Amino acid sequence: MSGNKHRRTGAVALGSNLGDREANLAAGLRALERTPGVVVLQRSRWIETLPVGGPPGQPPFLNGAALVETSLEPHALLGELQRIEARYGRDRAREEHHGPRTLDLDLLFLGDLRLDGPDLVLPHPRMEERAFVLEPLAEVAPGRVLAISGRTVAERLAELRGPGPTLVRFETPQEAGRWCRAEREAGRSLGFVPTMGALHEGHLALVERALSENDRACVSVFVNPLQFDDPEDLRRYPRDMDADASLLASAGCHMVFTGTLAQFFPEAPGGSPAPEALIDPGPAAGGLEGEHRPGHFAGVATIVDRLFDVVLPTRAYFGQKDFQQTLVVRELARRRGGPEVVVFPTVREPSGLACSSRNALLSAADQPRALALWAALGAASELWKAGVRDARTLSARMRAELEGQVDAVEYAEVRDPDAWSSDAPPGPLSRAVALIAAQVGGVRLIDNLVLA
Ligand code: AMP
Repeated sequence: MSGNKHRRTGAVALGSNLGDREANLAAGLRALERTPGVVVLQRSRWIETLPVGGPPGQPPFLNGAALVETSLEPHALLGELQRIEARYGRDRAREEHHGPRTLDLDLLFLGDLRLDGPDLVLPHPRMEERAFVLEPLAEVAPGRVLAISGRTVAERLAELRGPGPTLVRFETPQEAGRWCRAEREAGRSLGFVPTMGALHEGHLALVERALSENDRACVSVFVNPLQFDDPEDLRRYPRDMDADASLLASAGCHMVFTGTLAQFFPEAPGGSPAPEALIDPGPAAGGLEGEHRPGHFAGVATIVDRLFDVVLPTRAYFGQKDFQQTLVVRELARRRGGPEVVVFPTVREPSGLACSSRNALLSAADQPRALALWAALGAASELWKAGVRDARTLSARMRAELEGQVDAVEYAEVRDPDAWSSDAPPGPLSRAVALIAAQVGGVRLIDNLVLA
């Protein structure tokens, strides 16, 4: 994945409205994953939509989108997509225009390529008019700028959907709690996205998902001092509440709130919970982030627990970008008896760099160096595909890739995602997630990739 100038990021739309639609899409996606020269970075959920055009009475579609990275040229990729369609029953020569089909794969865009040929037009000319294409695409590439409208995918989708709800904004958790209670009492489900603000596409994808699964979506913006072990890191953390509120308003979010530490913990003497009052984050806090940021997960568990008390959400949304955090939060929600925790895949910039609020702190010169994290994860993934199952070998490969690029590697390790351990698991792995934390130009970056 590293060092190859010819790799491009693209998106493939998947659709099916005949037979076992879910199985068709899953088979199509698997075939795409196995296509040489193609890496599927992320996929959307399968979303049900009504057919547009075509013969009357045809069944609804299930649509999805996959973000891919590929070394294939456009026509070669198109050929692969058509072969996959053919393998799963589609016969382009015989089917009705816009009629039912078992599997439809369309290339939406490929890097910044513009093509206008008889068999392939890129970017896909009609995608900007089709909510059924943009809705899943907004889950994997919300910030992608569209060629015709000049809008991002998320903005264009909002335009197609028409005016959304008005964002309600609260400055205290007490007011937010009252709003949430009223919504619950009206019988509405609440999707909740806790954040530290400086919102980016990763956060917005979580909001989009929360909106699609709940009657109301709400977001907290709070840079939680309890989870920072380094005061300088806390001081430098980017903050821009007005920009955040405007992004949330255009995403169709219903409510955003913030507060001070003393407002979140009114019972704490001096307005800050004492170390012994913090919540035990459990075994998933051992090793890696827990080791390099002492006290971090106790701070996370304590604020998330309090945020859950304020909102009492139906579902809460977290990014896989903070993999170890998702384990801590799942355990916390299990102990509390709710809410349902939904983990969303990492949203990346076209370069592969994981979206992060901290990216804004990187200087222009340091940005290319930050790509070493993604390159190292890619290198581990290649080794895994080649059959390597030893955590130490995978780890050494990642360190070699990071060497000379980043200023310091805090860790570059592999764990079993389903059986968390503080130390590297011994023996051959059957499941694995590769995790990295590194310093680039004074900015601490983390990333991870599930290898299997
Ligand atoms: P933060 O504001 O960094 O605390 O993040 C708030 C939530 O957004 C957490 O659940 C993060 O895991 C999630 N998040 C942050 N970056 C991304 C990303 N690139 N993709 C998906 N989720 C993310």
